[in-house]
Amino acid sequence: MGDRIDDAGAPDLAAAARAGALLTVDLGAIRANYRLLRARAGGAEVAGVLKADAYGLGMAQVAPALVREGCRTFFTAHLDEALRLRPLVPAASAIYVLHGPMPGTAPDFLAHGLVPVLNDAGQAREWRTLAATLGRRLPAAIQVDSGMSRMGMSGADLAALGEPAEWLQAFEPRLLMSHLACADLPDHPLNALQHARFEALRARFPAMPASLANSSAVFLGPSWHYELVRPGAALYGINPQPGAMNPLRQAVSLQARIVQVRTVQAGDAVGYGARWVADGTRRIATLSIGYADGWLRALTNRGFAFIEGMRVPVAGTVSMDSITLDVTGVPEALLMAGRPVELLGPHQQVDAVAQQAGTIGYEVLTRLGGRFYRRYLDN
Ligand SMILES: *Cc1c(COP(=O)(O)O)cnc(C)c1O
Repeated sequence: MGDRIDDAGAPDLAAAARAGALLTVDLGAIRANYRLLRARAGGAEVAGVLKADAYGLGMAQVAPALVREGCRTFFTAHLDEALRLRPLVPAASAIYVLHGPMPGTAPDFLAHGLVPVLNDAGQAREWRTLAATLGRRLPAAIQVDSGMSRMGMSGADLAALGEPAEWLQAFEPRLLMSHLACADLPDHPLNALQHARFEALRARFPAMPASLANSSAVFLGPSWHYELVRPGAALYGINPQPGAMNPLRQAVSLQARIVQVRTVQAGDAVGYGARWVADGTRRIATLSIGYADGWLRALTNRGFAFIEGMRVPVAGTVSMDSITLDVTGVPEALLMAGRPVELLGPHQQVDAVAQQAGTIGYEVLTRLGGRFYRRYLDN
């Protein structure tokens, strides 16, 4: 076991005992994942994507861990996330805000040394106006849409702005970027199409460092890396290549406590909506975690937990604060009230839970709740 490295400096056992569930974030695993991504990215710089509170794991702890590995470029989605990140990383670090300057927010970027990702002609004009007012060039990333139709300059935006060589005069052009829709599906034809379109756009922005790859695209090969790659999910242990072995370390474990255990008889219903009915005498354990903690309601009658490595199924509907497990056959000595039961950990990875819930690991992580007792280890 490593040392807990949060503010208190030592685990607060009383606080842990009062919480319904314990979330452990392994910063050492995140750092190892960063190193693995750096090795896979060849010579490209590896940024850290920290939006959504580092995918639910805690930006305040994850950012310094990445800094220790030499990470000096970061991405957030929103301006307020970037403001929270600013004091956590060295002053010379680049912090890009993916959603760019919303109307009226451009001065905030400047005041805090943040770089906007300019996604359309309106944002480019907003940033250009500020540059003109100040009489100097301002750092900017340019996002172009290469086929996802979500964010980034469209052909119409580029036409409206005119020749890049001219309108870029107002900026210090830091990064030309685009984002892939299907990087986790290596054979999807949209990948090659987006790559070709990005190449064509890159020719119009010569001498600008380029970035196309999220986590999955790091594993597509060198032609996707350019100068900078932007992994988020892989840092946090999500498999970037579904279907292949996950080369990354799991960064989270989650345990919830047994509240009580009861025996039900054939025909007895368990949980809201009576969606689970005992087909014989069964033992049911109630666990103190529910959808309010981010344990998805879609896991009703589908998910699993692990008690000393024994797999036990969810029996019935996921409630707000609890789930019920069919623990028939598990030794009673392992079913004491207060005992922690594994929901994420060595026996069950984030991606497995996502699959049971019909979603992706990203959603499982970013939903992780605020009322866990959180421990940060750095192994
Ligand atoms: C979220 C995001 C990333 C990181 O994606 P992962 O799949 O989590 O690696 C990179 N670039 C952009 C534009 C994003 O929105």
